[in-house]
Amino acid sequence: MPGSVDESRRTVSAQLLRGQKALVTGANSGIGLATAVALGRAGADVVVNYVVGADEAEKVVAQIKDFGVRAYAHEADVSDEDQVVAMVARMVEEFGTIDIMVANAGLQRDAAVTDMTLAQWQKVIDVNLTGQFLCAREAAKEFVRRGVVAEVSRSAGKIICMSSVHQIVPWSGHVNYASSKGGVGMLMQTLAQELAPKRIRVNAVAPGAIRTPINRDAWSTPEAEADLLRLIPYRRVGDPDDIANAVVAMASDLLDYVVGATLYVDGGMTLFPGFATGG
Ligand code: NAD
Repeated sequence: MPGSVDESRRTVSAQLLRGQKALVTGANSGIGLATAVALGRAGADVVVNYVVGADEAEKVVAQIKDFGVRAYAHEADVSDEDQVVAMVARMVEEFGTIDIMVANAGLQRDAAVTDMTLAQWQKVIDVNLTGQFLCAREAAKEFVRRGVVAEVSRSAGKIICMSSVHQIVPWSGHVNYASSKGGVGMLMQTLAQELAPKRIRVNAVAPGAIRTPINRDAWSTPEAEADLLRLIPYRRVGDPDDIANAVVAMASDLLDYVVGATLYVDGGMTLFPGFATGG
C-alpha cells in the first residue's frame, strides 16, 4: 500500500510506546483500525472501542495481540456519557491506567442545509464533537490523578483528536460535519491550553481524503477518484496507515514539545489547490 511503511523500517517504532496504554474510539474500521494496530505495533497495550461490529473489533484485537501486547474490545457509544465513563473506568481497572486517548470515532449525515433535519445535525455533533469532549474529559481525569511516570513518558498523558481538513475548509452539503470538526479544533486548542500546565499534551491529527468506508463514494470509481485527485496536490488518495503513523508519532515522546497543534496529513489538500494554476 502506498501509505504503508516497509516492515524492516519499523524496528525503532516497535519500542516507541512500550509500556503505554492506549484507547482508540471507533477502532474496528478505517483510520481507527489502522491506528489501533499501529499503536500495538509500537508497543502499547490497546483498548479497541467500537459501537457496532463486535466481530471486526475482535479481529483487530487478535491482530494487536500478535505484537505481544495486551488488547481487548469494548463496546461503547462515545456520545453516551455513562458508557464513556464506564469504558475508561474499565480500562483503568484492566490496564492500571491510560496514557493515550485517540478520540477518533466519527460519522457523516450529509444533506443540503435546506433538507438537513435537526436529527442529522444533532447526531453528527453528538458523536464527532460531544463524543470527543467526553473521551478527552475522562482521560484527562486519570492523567491528572496519576501525573507523570518518568519511565513511561515525559508527559502525564496524550489526547489526540481526530479532526479533518474540514476543521478549516468549509464543505457545502456537510454543514453538520464541518461544524463538528471546526468545533474539534477549538476543543483541542482550549484543552491543550488548560491541561498543558499539568503536563498533558492535547493535539489533533487532521486527515485529508483517506480511503475508508466513510467516503467510499469519493474514491470507489475511477471517475470519482480522478475528481478527488484534483483536490490533492500530492496526487494520491491517503491510506489509513498514513494517519496511523502520524498518530503514533504524535503520541510518542519524539513530539513531546508539540502542544495544541493540528497536524494536517492531507497530501497538500489544505494548500488551496485551486490556485495552483493561477487563481
Ligand atoms: P469509518 O466509518 O471507517 O470509521 C468510523 C468509526 O467510528 C467506525 O468504527 C464507527 O463504527 C465508529 N463510530 C461511529 N459512531 C460511533 C459512536 N457513537 N461511538 C463509537 N464509535 C462510533 O471512517 P474513518 O474514515 O475511519 O473515520 C475515522 C475518523 O476520521 C472520523 O472522525 C472522521 O471524521 C475522520 N476523518 C476521516 C477522513 C477520511 O477521508 N476517511 C478524512 C478526515 C477525517
